[in-house]
Amino acid sequence: MLLVPFVLLLFSSYVFGQDEAAEGPIIGGIFYKNSDDLKVALEVGAKTFNFRTSIKEVSARGDVLGISKYVCELAEEGVIGIIDGTGGRASENIQALCDMLELPHVSIQHNDLYNDDWSVLNMQPSPSAYNMVLEELILHKEWRNFTVLYIKDYSMMRVSELLHLGNKTHPYVVSVRELSGDDYREVLIDAKHNGYTNFVVDCPSRNLEQLLLHAQQVGMMTDEHSYIFVSPDLFTLDMSRYRYGGVNMTGLRMVELNKTDNEKLWNFTMTFNQETGKTLEAEELKTQLLLVHDAVEIFAAAIKKVHVEAEQLSCENYKAWDYGSTLLNFMKTNKVDGITRSLIFNGLGDRTDVTFDILELTPAGNQTIGAWKNNRLIMDRPIVADAEIAQEPALRNKTLKVLIAISPPYGYYKLSHEKLEGNDRYEGFTIDIIDRLSQILGFNYEFEEEKDYGSLGENGWTGMCLALREDKADLAICDFTMTAERQMGIDFSTPFMTLGIGILYKQPSKQPPEMFSFMAVFSKEVWYYMVLIQVALGVTMIFVGHISYKEWQNPVPCIESPEELNNQFSFANSVWLIIGSVMQQGSEIAPIALAPRMITSVWWFFTMVMVASYVGTLVAFLIVEKNVMPFKTVEELYNHKSISYGAKKKGSTKQFFEESTSPIYQGMFKKMTRNGWLVGDNDVGVLKAETQQYAFFMESTSLEYYKERHCDLLQVGGLLDSKSYGIGMKKQSPYKKYIDDALLHMKERGEIEKMKNIWWKEKRGGGKCGEKHDEEQKQLGMKNMLGAFVVLGVGSLIGLFISIIDMLWGVFKRSVKYSTTFRYELVEELKFVIKFRGNIKPVKRNQKKSIEGSFEALAKAEGKDDIRSLHSIRSTETHRTHHSHSSRHSSRSLSVAFAKRRSYS
Ligand code: GLU
Repeated sequence: MLLVPFVLLLFSSYVFGQDEAAEGPIIGGIFYKNSDDLKVALEVGAKTFNFRTSIKEVSARGDVLGISKYVCELAEEGVIGIIDGTGGRASENIQALCDMLELPHVSIQHNDLYNDDWSVLNMQPSPSAYNMVLEELILHKEWRNFTVLYIKDYSMMRVSELLHLGNKTHPYVVSVRELSGDDYREVLIDAKHNGYTNFVVDCPSRNLEQLLLHAQQVGMMTDEHSYIFVSPDLFTLDMSRYRYGGVNMTGLRMVELNKTDNEKLWNFTMTFNQETGKTLEAEELKTQLLLVHDAVEIFAAAIKKVHVEAEQLSCENYKAWDYGSTLLNFMKTNKVDGITRSLIFNGLGDRTDVTFDILELTPAGNQTIGAWKNNRLIMDRPIVADAEIAQEPALRNKTLKVLIAISPPYGYYKLSHEKLEGNDRYEGFTIDIIDRLSQILGFNYEFEEEKDYGSLGENGWTGMCLALREDKADLAICDFTMTAERQMGIDFSTPFMTLGIGILYKQPSKQPPEMFSFMAVFSKEVWYYMVLIQVALGVTMIFVGHISYKEWQNPVPCIESPEELNNQFSFANSVWLIIGSVMQQGSEIAPIALAPRMITSVWWFFTMVMVASYVGTLVAFLIVEKNVMPFKTVEELYNHKSISYGAKKKGSTKQFFEESTSPIYQGMFKKMTRNGWLVGDNDVGVLKAETQQYAFFMESTSLEYYKERHCDLLQVGGLLDSKSYGIGMKKQSPYKKYIDDALLHMKERGEIEKMKNIWWKEKRGGGKCGEKHDEEQKQLGMKNMLGAFVVLGVGSLIGLFISIIDMLWGVFKRSVKYSTTFRYELVEELKFVIKFRGNIKPVKRNQKKSIEGSFEALAKAEGKDDIRSLHSIRSTETHRTHHSHSSRHSSRSLSVAFAKRRSYS
């Protein structure tokens, strides 16, 4: 036992004052064994503020006994307080003992189990502070939905309030995902498949690196994804590998990195590095280390204000430290500025009033974009500098002449009631691209219009190509197709868009449904299978009906002992039963034995599904009028008599037809030029397509744009080729490399795609037509109906199986009854079934009785079980009935005459 009982109330030798600094009071520390950095941080802090330390190491999480022992040991040593680096249940234990001993307990861990009764000083910002800042950040980001990712066994207290944003009163959709184990990829992939893009991540700083890595591995670090990290340690990590993916990462930082404002941080970093032999930068220090320093500082500031005398305490005597509560109160109320800024606590020891820097990861590195101060979010986002590209001096401050074309959506005249001048006159997709490039590369630009994109004609180069070649312009940007011919005269940047030639044509008029459109509900194969299955099932029913002994019934119920038994499963009856159910009419045939009943039920189920599917879809087929395209391919268009077609007069599309070796395209080109079907501009072609019988060949990008605005137009067929748009410049242009780099950068970050969406779908009448729905009704094919067929198949097989059991059971009973062998009866039964001579089965009986024909005698004989088995009557004569068909049976084979009526009744 380590406790020393007799030390009760023994005054410490550590009575301290200003001049006893070297013999300063002891601060206790309890840390896990692997928390070396925290221990060093405590030593460094103690050294700075003239304390001595006594550090205890807990070997394992949950080592409750160990922890109690250490707290008591520290109490015996006369510590003035304990800095607790453990957390969770361990902290709970420390807290319980500290409460009893009235020793100040300072925790540096975020604590899941934290509760208001604890008289603990928690250096971590309180959960409510986190909740507030996170909520404000989400509002600022205008997220409408987000997913909380948290680590298993780690508290969600810091984000718990966010879950309320998912209440009905808020317009947010909040989902929660737990990250468990060491592999977070599965959860992340699942989130990705669900289309989640905004995340609030609450995980301890030790898991951050792993999480980021896994997110990158599963492709969740792209410009679509946005994260807010709760841990204030995000930006202590090396984030360079995530900088360029376009991901938006926001994090918090508690320390002030400015050296003049926070000298303590730099001193602490220096001493910490000296003690550990590390070479960490101040911004790389984990927040917890700094909190240990600040905890020591709080002790130092408090004992400056209040006189305390250390005392050796014993856990066994439940004696509290006389100065404990006074010291703790001073620690709570004393305003101190630590490394992690103002250390302000509320009465419960929570750090509610915290200052955070809000940081964001940008391609240029980590940037502070705002702050959380006095419980308010102040955002102050600087323009993101594309640092690395911007360093290139080649284009900086140069003014480039850029050729553009007024061709929607690549270039428009700006709509304004004022007279605009210079570059202000234009807007559009390519204008935005140049603007962004100029931001990245630092050049100025001047636009000039040019209608002709340029080609190599008989008189040499024309249009934009000529201007670039003659240095009259530096760049040319529009829907400038990169062609081999142009490439001979000028250079192109890396492509910024890919496309192909498509056909624009107006929606064809609707045609009324055809006469037999009711047949189109099911695909052909479904109809075939339906017929086939009915035939197959008819045969199955006959078979099953014949081998199920209960189906052999007395045809004349008033005759107790009939001459023959009847089976209702004749071919006609079976087919009638089956067809009756398909038509939902039923029939009078009612199966008796289990197997036919089972098969009939499955069949009814099948017909119910089929009929419901048919009826459900039929209406749509009967009323929907179909678009009937007069042509579906270029070949059909070429062969069409009354539809004309064309392309832009001066452009790569016309050139495609001109240079094509295909006889169809050649023929088309001839017709276009000969008949004057070529047009001056895309606008003209679109108008013609809308108002005449005219198909316009245009580039898919432009086609998409016009389709969005002219709802009666559509693209027919696929694309005829594949090519790209690039920025034109003269051969060997010194700008090419930089423009290429910047364009690639923009593409990787999805900026071009975003611009495209804006100019195609939003601005200038975009989104007018909404999603065009394919009105074509979906025919129900085997894919849709397979389930019903499978159920039927399986059900029938089970029925078949039962009927075989049924038959075997009947055979067995007979063999017992007539003392024959099972095998013999089985062979006889099978012979009867296989021969299949009808639905009548004669009843075998004793000749004598038959001749007498007396019911009484028969009853008597039956009473004595006088009707013998086949085996026994083989030697006797067969009874011949007076009925012609039954006599047919009897005469054909004696072997079939074995059934005994009683067994069926
Ligand atoms: N993009 C084409 C060109 O660069 C113009 C449009 C067209 O020919 O369809 O010439």
